[in-house]
Amino acid sequence: MRYISTRGRSPAQSFCDILLGGLAPDGGLYLPEAYPQVSRADLDEWRGLSYAELAFRILSRFIDDIPADDLRALCEKTYTAEVYCHAREGDDPAEITPVRWLEDGSLGLLELSNGPTLAFKDMAMQLLGNLFEYVLAARGETINILGATSGDTGSAAEYAMRGKHGVRVFMLSPHGRMSAFQRAQMYSLQDDNIYNISVRGMFDDAQDIVKAVSNDHAFKARHKIGAVNSINWGRVAAQIVYYFKGYFAATASNDQTVAFAVPSGNFGNICAGHIARMMGLPIERLVLATNENDVLDEFFRTGTYRPRATAETHATSSPSMDISKASNFERFVFDLVGRDGQVVSELWSGVEQGGSFDLMGSQYWACIDDYGFISGSSSHADRLATIRQCDERYGVVIDTHTADGLKVALEHRLDGVPMLVLETALPAKFEETIREALGRRPDRPADLADIESLPQRVEVMDADAAAVRAFIEAHCA
Ligand SMILES: *Cc1c(COP(=O)(O)O)cnc(C)c1O
Repeated sequence: MRYISTRGRSPAQSFCDILLGGLAPDGGLYLPEAYPQVSRADLDEWRGLSYAELAFRILSRFIDDIPADDLRALCEKTYTAEVYCHAREGDDPAEITPVRWLEDGSLGLLELSNGPTLAFKDMAMQLLGNLFEYVLAARGETINILGATSGDTGSAAEYAMRGKHGVRVFMLSPHGRMSAFQRAQMYSLQDDNIYNISVRGMFDDAQDIVKAVSNDHAFKARHKIGAVNSINWGRVAAQIVYYFKGYFAATASNDQTVAFAVPSGNFGNICAGHIARMMGLPIERLVLATNENDVLDEFFRTGTYRPRATAETHATSSPSMDISKASNFERFVFDLVGRDGQVVSELWSGVEQGGSFDLMGSQYWACIDDYGFISGSSSHADRLATIRQCDERYGVVIDTHTADGLKVALEHRLDGVPMLVLETALPAKFEETIREALGRRPDRPADLADIESLPQRVEVMDADAAAVRAFIEAHCA
């Protein structure tokens, strides 16, 4: 399996070659040159497999430069009930992504947030940690991961990379801007290879420092600086697996179809659903849900993709979906325009200059319905109402992002088609809004009850790229 760029002007690469990198040299994103196809016989054989074995079967269609036994071992090491230990009471952690039915067989939550940091990013990031360690050891290389986080991504990366040989993580976070729980989650890690840097400034200041350091090509090469951001192909690939697992859990036979509702920001999660569908998984609908930052909803309703400026981005109570441009969206558009890298290049050359594009009148929009997408958006008031309704009607407390998904899912149910809402975080992560909705604190997993009282390890620094550069230099041997 070779990987090509969505802009069509980079040489094809193998999986391990693109695993540690980011964008393709032409500025595009990597995708398989063709999607592996899943037959009815495959589905019959895969129904009933454990999560780890299913992950191996699916990923081996995308990865041909890791020996099968090694890839299977990496999947088995990653997808265990010990790692994904935060299932709701009564749900089986051995399922890794159990389904909690709200209405029996017709409306359910696909639990993706039972990993160490209580958000779905653990599903892919934990595998990435093991893949990185494996590939780096095989090549005798090391990597220094540099990132900025406002919460979910940074903690998922740290929990995935902690203790991994050949990997160091330098994670910048805005000083005093994260919740006490989020701070404790990251800063209580005592592993030698994890460095938390708390920057006196906002998230954007931290992000600017990462950009400045990464644009210093000599420094980047000398210190082997890498990233694990949401465009990483390995993350998208790992996420394909739970769409299959969810399909098997929601259907009794492979003649049936299913719908998924996906709380979306950077289009990474739902991109994996799109690919599962392109592989032949019988997905009737992909319901894309946004919050007030509705760039993607606007596209699927009107054909216009208009990324917003940072200043136009709303800070909402589903903060992990507060994006102004959806970095993985280019992957879908590549398929929509018939995999023509030239067309994608032209569309994005406008976008990168602050513009937008409109496909409504184009030949491409004629096939949009073939892809099964439908979309909607949600507001703070919707979120509170949905959390309340879910608690009252079904006795299940959901987080704010999952609430956005459920709100839009309820607008697009089809008779006879089970609807699975992807649960992208546990409510314990967003206590404040849950309290606003329900007047009480959400349950917190027992092992995290006192996390705020653990000793913390963090470097507080001015928002100064030179200081961060010096810190990295001093700490990477
Ligand atoms: C990252 C995240 C999302 C958005 O996922 P994308 O892949 O960026 O679309 C939604 N909910 C939560 C809780 C997240 O952490």
